[in-house]
Amino acid sequence: MKQFKAESKKLLDMMINSIYTNKDIFLRELISNASDAIDKRRFLSLTNSSLADDFKITIVADKPSRTLTISDNGVGMTKDELENNLGTIATSGTLKFKQEQQQNDDSLIGQFGVGFYSAFMVAAKVEVETRSVNEESGYRWTSSGAEGYDIKSCDRAEAGTTIRLTLKENDEDCNYSDYLSEYKIRSLVKTYSDYIRYPIVMDVTKSRKADGGDGYTEYTETETLNTMTPIWKMAKKSVKKEDYDKFYRTTFHDFRAPSRVISVNIEGNINYTALLFIPEKQPVNYYSKDYEKGLALYSSGVLIQEKCAKLLPDWLGFVRGVVDSPDLTLNLSREVLQQDRQLRFIADSLRKKILADFKKWLGSDREGYEKFFAELGEGVKYGVYENFGEKKDELKDLILFRSSTEKKAVTLSEYVSRMKEGQEGVYYACGESADKIDAQPQLEKIKADGYEILYCTQRVDEFCLMALGEYDKKKFINALKAGEHTEEKEEKNEDIKALLSDYKKLLAGKVYDVRMSTRLVSHAVCLTAEGEVSIEMERVFRASGEGVRAEKVLELNPEHELVKKLIERHKSGEGFETLALTLYDEAALMALGEVDDPASFVTRINSLMK
Ligand code: ADP
Repeated sequence: MKQFKAESKKLLDMMINSIYTNKDIFLRELISNASDAIDKRRFLSLTNSSLADDFKITIVADKPSRTLTISDNGVGMTKDELENNLGTIATSGTLKFKQEQQQNDDSLIGQFGVGFYSAFMVAAKVEVETRSVNEESGYRWTSSGAEGYDIKSCDRAEAGTTIRLTLKENDEDCNYSDYLSEYKIRSLVKTYSDYIRYPIVMDVTKSRKADGGDGYTEYTETETLNTMTPIWKMAKKSVKKEDYDKFYRTTFHDFRAPSRVISVNIEGNINYTALLFIPEKQPVNYYSKDYEKGLALYSSGVLIQEKCAKLLPDWLGFVRGVVDSPDLTLNLSREVLQQDRQLRFIADSLRKKILADFKKWLGSDREGYEKFFAELGEGVKYGVYENFGEKKDELKDLILFRSSTEKKAVTLSEYVSRMKEGQEGVYYACGESADKIDAQPQLEKIKADGYEILYCTQRVDEFCLMALGEYDKKKFINALKAGEHTEEKEEKNEDIKALLSDYKKLLAGKVYDVRMSTRLVSHAVCLTAEGEVSIEMERVFRASGEGVRAEKVLELNPEHELVKKLIERHKSGEGFETLALTLYDEAALMALGEVDDPASFVTRINSLMK
């Protein structure tokens, strides 16, 4: 007997002990595997007609032996494939992830290629009999769970795979015999596997009125349990929303319904049909490198690639769906290069369709679009600056920012339409949250004067605005940026000149300049930045390990009592440093959320309170 690889064994244990509440899904997983295997054989049959067959998936339930059998006439597996595919699990990260999550989340099964093992949720013993299209004889893989598995050769007339499950004994948790009931199987197939493109057949018992009598006689008939026609081939009008939702949920393993369904049918130089879905929530691992974007690519109903990444730009990586085109030349040597031109054409056309749909969405269902944007808009904003802003014109009217005056997400065009007479540009301010931005002293005057400010609370926001450069000829103005030197009498005043110069020396290495400001109202001081790098950007760069620094400016409010006191103290020379350093800390606290040296800050505060 061979041992499972350590990882597989752990997963198997989890399956056997059924951490997943919904055991039903095992059938979906096995049927999907069978369908994938048929896809592969059908693909090969395009160039090798001897492999063509009457493709189907057959289910047999046998009550006396307590076995459920799922057979397919797909590609089958060679001995090595059997060993590699069923003896190991490809990614250890997968298992770790599942253990960390520790949740009864069925949507995770299948997503990471552990589908086959789900058979052990219901079966005490699993036998896989298979023969590869490339081999003359077959193999039988047998396992009763965690102890290990055996592989032996066996006779098998046809290529394909048969999975035989000997169901567990019924216990208080589960009546495993249910999985032998015709009704149960039929309903599981309908629920989970209705759009499998091959017939899923089963012998079912029917009854008819007995000839001449009152009684009924039973007879068996082979019936196809699933609908088969791919949903993307059906006219949109004839498909109900629930059906789209169900297809999405089962195909993309998301337990939520999609927030939008986009169906595309293009006839022209290159024809294709696409059915796309916008998920309601950002996929679990969306920003990790494990996340694979892409759309399933079919050519006239034959699956070519499960996740064709080329069909979507990175910033639309959250879009899921299916593309089916009869114009992808398959019988050529499957060279990627030959597909490239067509793929690029389809990708380009799809992107435009998706963005056109977003525009429609924004116009007709504002609330829905705002919800979508709050969840996934960050990605769209990346699109603005990707490739040096190549697509920014396509996107500039689709992005939303939260507005200080409207208290909701607004478009740039809405902002511009409300701009005040003589307003130079679009004001924006960056920070962790709208509340934190609102608390920034240097915004007091702009807000008091009634200007609207766009809150940039996501990292991508500021980069996005910089990539746009301007909107409708209006430039973007960082409202938190350092104010100009006040050319007013204060800075000409010798006492103030001396104060600013000493203050600057005191803060050497921390700030680049100290200035009097005209835009503070109730606050004494604020910390801003001059030049290209804002304080917020410095923070983003710091988080990614880059040492880009903002040129910080400390601004003082000459009208403020404490600043007046500071001028006094500077003149008299008594207590200047303590107050000056504490005012700087106060500004840093507001702008950065932290002080350089908390211990000395506390000491100074205490001395000031005495
Ligand atoms: P996944 O299907 O997500 O890759 P599974 O654990 O369900 O993960 O299956 C592992 C592999 O075993 C499959 O990728 C496939 O190569 C092979 N396999 C499973 N079932 C069949 C089958 N019925 N016919 C041929 N190959 C199969």
